[in-house]
Amino acid sequence: MKTIDDLIAQGQVAGKRVFVRADLNVPLAGAAITDDGRIRAAVPTITRLAEAGAKVIVASHLGRPKGEPDPQFSLAPVAARLGELLGKDVTFAADTVGDSARATVAGLADGQVALLENLRFNAGETAKDDAERGAFADELAALADTYVGDGFGAVHRKHASVYDLPARLPHAAGGLIATEVGVLRKLTEDVTRPYAVVLGGSKVSDKLGVIDHLLEKADRILVGGGMVFTFLKAQGHEVGKSLLQEDQLPVVREYLARAEARGVEFVLPVDVVGATEFPDLKTQAPSSPVTAAVDAIPADLIGLDIGPESRKLFAAKLADAATVFWNGPMGVFEHPDYADGTRAVAQALIDSPAFTVVGGGDSAAAVRILGFDENAFGHISTGGGASLEYLEGKTLPGLAALEG
Ligand code: ADP
Ligand code: MG
Repeated sequence: MKTIDDLIAQGQVAGKRVFVRADLNVPLAGAAITDDGRIRAAVPTITRLAEAGAKVIVASHLGRPKGEPDPQFSLAPVAARLGELLGKDVTFAADTVGDSARATVAGLADGQVALLENLRFNAGETAKDDAERGAFADELAALADTYVGDGFGAVHRKHASVYDLPARLPHAAGGLIATEVGVLRKLTEDVTRPYAVVLGGSKVSDKLGVIDHLLEKADRILVGGGMVFTFLKAQGHEVGKSLLQEDQLPVVREYLARAEARGVEFVLPVDVVGATEFPDLKTQAPSSPVTAAVDAIPADLIGLDIGPESRKLFAAKLADAATVFWNGPMGVFEHPDYADGTRAVAQALIDSPAFTVVGGGDSAAAVRILGFDENAFGHISTGGGASLEYLEGKTLPGLAALEG
């Protein structure tokens, strides 16, 4: 994959119109940005290009508008915040490939930055039809001389700005994509062992591809979260009223058997914390948590977190790892009574000398919400879906397009 340095050396940056496909899909409350993490993550690549004398054209999607302009998904608030973070004015184009975009790009001096309106205000961006997507990519290509792919959170999408546009222009990966891919390689092709994987979250069916693939790579797999109850049931435990996917029992049994055959250690909790009613996440009202050993889960209990003995067990099983990948909260961390398992795993990663990676939208949010210092982890992925698909062994369209 070519880098920005390669493009600069080839004379494709200075004085050129450089299109940067970023991922500025931030959460909004009205016009207020509630978490600007993705904008911050985009800054280094944009700064680098501007300093190298590019006319920088930044583009992104935001939310899921239906292929036409929809003011609630406008990137205008993002342009303002991006300007603050860059310390320079960012000209905002009121459309993506129309009169405003063309005039904005034509007005850029070397080193200046513009942001186009939401890519998904155009049906061609996400069209399934290759010709329709291609036609939109042609319009985008007409605005620029060079392409830099840096929207890691979108590389698993076969969208015009991610997949079709790089084929039309000299292209390279931006710093963010280069970093993410480097980290993902250390979790797949280039692993330092022992390699421990911690998986949690809600449904096992969401994570089958990841488990399937990591079974071939990891030395140890620790399981918590809602999906653990399907594993516990597969091992013959009763799980009360916990989240259970009966239809996945055969698959989970196959994973356990394959792990045993390969010598991969599966670590399941020995106790759980739960309640007879699901906690109220809105009011955060105190609930009545009880702890139960996994071979004595009461029939009316909903398992909502891993228990105290399991937290110690998990921490011990992570202590001697050289590489740790964690995806999925250990419990319903959104309620304080069921956040301890997730907190314990986060702390174990911080305490470990291993190279530690946190992937997954809710997992990354949990780390922040529980007040951990993000810099204490080796890496927190900016693209939940994209990193999971990479770990499933899938070819990601946006990365394949940058390879070519
Ligand atoms: P990620 O986005 O990190 O991949 P997921 O989306 O798979 O994670 O799962 C996150 C959700 O899993 C959280 O909202 C959390 O409340 C839920 N969860 C965790 N443990 C349980 C459980 N025991 N029962 C039900 N839901 C759970
Ligand atoms: Mg999630």
